[in-house]
Amino acid sequence: MILHLKKNISELQVKQVAEIHEGVMFYDAKRWVVVTSSSIKKPLKETQEFIEEFIETETDIQLAGKKYLTETRSVKWGNIEIGGNSNNTVMMAGPCAVESESQIMESAEFIASMGIKTFRAGAFKPRTSPYTFQGLGMQGLELLDKVRSRFGLSIITEVKNLSHAQQVLDVADIIQIGAKAMYDVSVLELCGASKKPVLIKRGFGTTLQEFVQAAEFVLCKGNPNVILCERGIRTFETKTRFTFDLCGAAYLKHYTNLPVVLDPSHAMGYSYGVPDLAKASMAFGCDGILIEVHPTPSKAKSDASQQLDFPTFTKLMGDLKTIGGAVGKQLV
Ligand code: PEP
Ligand code: MN
Repeated sequence: MILHLKKNISELQVKQVAEIHEGVMFYDAKRWVVVTSSSIKKPLKETQEFIEEFIETETDIQLAGKKYLTETRSVKWGNIEIGGNSNNTVMMAGPCAVESESQIMESAEFIASMGIKTFRAGAFKPRTSPYTFQGLGMQGLELLDKVRSRFGLSIITEVKNLSHAQQVLDVADIIQIGAKAMYDVSVLELCGASKKPVLIKRGFGTTLQEFVQAAEFVLCKGNPNVILCERGIRTFETKTRFTFDLCGAAYLKHYTNLPVVLDPSHAMGYSYGVPDLAKASMAFGCDGILIEVHPTPSKAKSDASQQLDFPTFTKLMGDLKTIGGAVGKQLV
């Protein structure tokens, strides 16, 4: 249940309402809000004088639910808007990781030359083996900061754990919480205390309910700027790296009020399939597409098999614009 509290009540009274219902409180720029477990269906009698309105919810998908907000939330960075009243499909492209100054500058120059405004690359890489490249860490973040000032690109980069979360928050325009980190409540809560856009990737063994509840951890700390990203889930199939769950994405679009980004690169795992899946994502009408692009994919230090080279990506951008025209979406 979501409670909107009356304008004139004190913070102490809000605390009391939250405590009585064992709920969470935050200020949403207009008013105090208390969110309780969805199993509570009505405010308790002794708090009724403080409550303006209440919204009953069926599950703990509450602040992210269409029942609460019927329109998709608008999230902004730089001059870019995702969701809201825009018909934008935001391209977030760049290499998997920051590997060196020359690699990241060459990548950023190419991405900027394509008219893209949002550049992706990881400095803290959540790898499945400790013996592989783990990212350049702080040095990578500094290079991304350079990319922003040199090319005017907005930066999306991932946070792996709490040890460097504040540093990522300081540098990134959009914080990416990866498929593995999305269960880390302390990272989610820290991002909730900020107002920066947060893109949460679905874990590969995560149900849609759990995925959206991860978003709830950020929303209920008072950060409304949350974006969801489908990046493939694990199924019995092994020929592709993961299975791109477009059914899940359709569910998110229908039942949640958060912008939905699709990531065909990590889902497929092999570059040969990425352009077709990206085109399907555009036709799907998603709010954003995340694609890995590298100057020399075969030499990439992470996710080498799935990154697109520049000529393939250039051709894909043309195709995506054509498809966008047919489905009323603008690629930005
Ligand atoms: C990435 O975006 O490079 C990445 C590691 O993604 P995921 O968390 O989805 O595996
Ligand atoms: Mn990657």
